[in-house]
Amino acid sequence: MQGYFCGAPLVHFNLSLGGPACLSETVKKRDGDMAQKTEGEKESVRRVAVYPGSFDPITYGHIDIVERALEIFDKVILAIAHDISDGSKRSLFTVEERIELAKSVFEHSPNLIVDSFKGLLVDYVGRTNARVILRGLRATSDFEYEFHMASMNRSLNTHLDTLFMMTSKDYFFVSSRSIKEVAGLGGAVEGLVPSIVARRLKEKFNLPLTKENQIGWEY
Ligand code: ADP
Repeated sequence: MQGYFCGAPLVHFNLSLGGPACLSETVKKRDGDMAQKTEGEKESVRRVAVYPGSFDPITYGHIDIVERALEIFDKVILAIAHDISDGSKRSLFTVEERIELAKSVFEHSPNLIVDSFKGLLVDYVGRTNARVILRGLRATSDFEYEFHMASMNRSLNTHLDTLFMMTSKDYFFVSSRSIKEVAGLGGAVEGLVPSIVARRLKEKFNLPLTKENQIGWEY
């Protein structure tokens, strides 16, 4: 995913980070608001989680995290990051397409809300009722990046915490990036992404829609 550092694109950390100078008025106001909340209100605030990412496109790895999170939280907001404005990182699917795909996947999950955001993630989360940022962990290689991001986001807003869920054994090797690479080369991604996503990938890459023409299918 991509993000901004006080409005400027970040190269190494894709989620929106920033230094103390970036601490926005929104976050400061939220700090004040939180102090005013009653215990009951704080309880309800705790049960909403924001799951941010590029979701370019959404995979069964993401879906597995959402489904498990919905067992814990009353509401999960799947927050899809817009492309950074300088065009240095372009998604395969537009944000509108990524939203549409996520919505169609979760059309029967009323407690899952699909939204999009630009700019600092902590500012976005501060505008929701959530105090938990949800992220998935696949391998140790994810850890360092996630650790930096979670620490910086916490320093920007101490009311927010990042919660990590371990990938499922069935999807530990699945990333949007690998799905795009495999699909772009004509490999079968069915079973790793919902069928609507597999179909859209074929359309994007101008591949035939029949399974028989794909590498990886057993006849
Ligand atoms: P990508 O899927 O390309 O790694 P995203 O930015 O869309 O990137 O991922 C959003 C979040 O979902 C991240 O926390 C990422 O670690 C997590 N995630 C992605 N794929 C999986 C998976 N297969 N299992 C668990 N978590 C995952």
